[in-house]
Amino acid sequence: MAARLLDGKIVAKQVRESVRLAVEERLAQGLRRPGLAVVLVGDDPASGIYVGKKRKACEEAGILSKAFDLPADTSQAKLLELIDQLNQDEEIDGILVQLPLPDQIDENAITEAIGPLKDVDGFHSVNIGLLTQGAPRLRPCTSLGIMRLLAANGIDIRGKDAVVVGRSNIVGRPIALELLLANATVTICHSFTRDLRARVEKAEILVAAVGKPGLIPGEWIADGAVVVDVGINRTNDGKLVGDVGFAEASKRAAWITPVPGGVGPMTVAILLENTLKSAQLRD
Ligand code: NDP
Repeated sequence: MAARLLDGKIVAKQVRESVRLAVEERLAQGLRRPGLAVVLVGDDPASGIYVGKKRKACEEAGILSKAFDLPADTSQAKLLELIDQLNQDEEIDGILVQLPLPDQIDENAITEAIGPLKDVDGFHSVNIGLLTQGAPRLRPCTSLGIMRLLAANGIDIRGKDAVVVGRSNIVGRPIALELLLANATVTICHSFTRDLRARVEKAEILVAAVGKPGLIPGEWIADGAVVVDVGINRTNDGKLVGDVGFAEASKRAAWITPVPGGVGPMTVAILLENTLKSAQLRD
């Protein structure tokens, strides 16, 4: 059996278009244009690419995007000062500080300084807390993007055995909470998990979010499983691959995300949706 592709580019385009229409509608009603502040500290090339994509996507959706590019030696106090200003800026609905941050800055202190209603990344403890309680407000972009991708392809989650590999605050934990909210039975695996293979083999829905190419060989995938590969790894010959052996996995799975073109585009699309939602929350 050849797996069907969970094509994030197609679904992300639909999400972006619906945000664009909603923004147009807001403006027609005389409401404010949603605004996103995108803060980049330092010159990490990958972060630069992600930030560029986010800013371009904002423009296309009619969202005001304000760029704040700070030098790599920016102090934590300076960054907190900027966040404080942005928290008070009426034109700004969402504040995104691109991670990772340089070593002198405590990422957690920055995440917690962003006003929870402007937290379009959904990482603030208030927003994670609401998701944990099953009453989400602003939700982390990658995990909500995965849920949208599954829903758009008609994939049923309720009662399924879902296995999440990885437990970071950015991907693993939030996607486990999302799957739980959608009534899956969720197992979370991490670097201390014994016999990862046995867990993966039982997964009806597998989400791999580790960042190690080939960690999950395709042979481990159950027949008919849904495989969501969040991992982004660059091979020696410059190709992007996920954490799951794609060729073999796609012979067994019913559905699988490509890397690139699976989860990545969804993350950016949901950021726009979250910015619109922040504007609506603040109307
Ligand atoms: P982290 O490094 O923060 O977390 C990795 C997780 O994997 C940790 O929880 C770690 O466990 C776990 N892990 C490490 N080794 C093993 C192992 N051998 N077996 C089981 N679990 C293991 O990474 P992120 O969550 O930030 O990112 C994961 C991947 O997703 C990366 O490739 C990243 O580039 C990609 N990514 C993609 C996005 C997209 O939009 N497509 C968005 C964000 C990330 P422990 O907690 O025990 O250390």
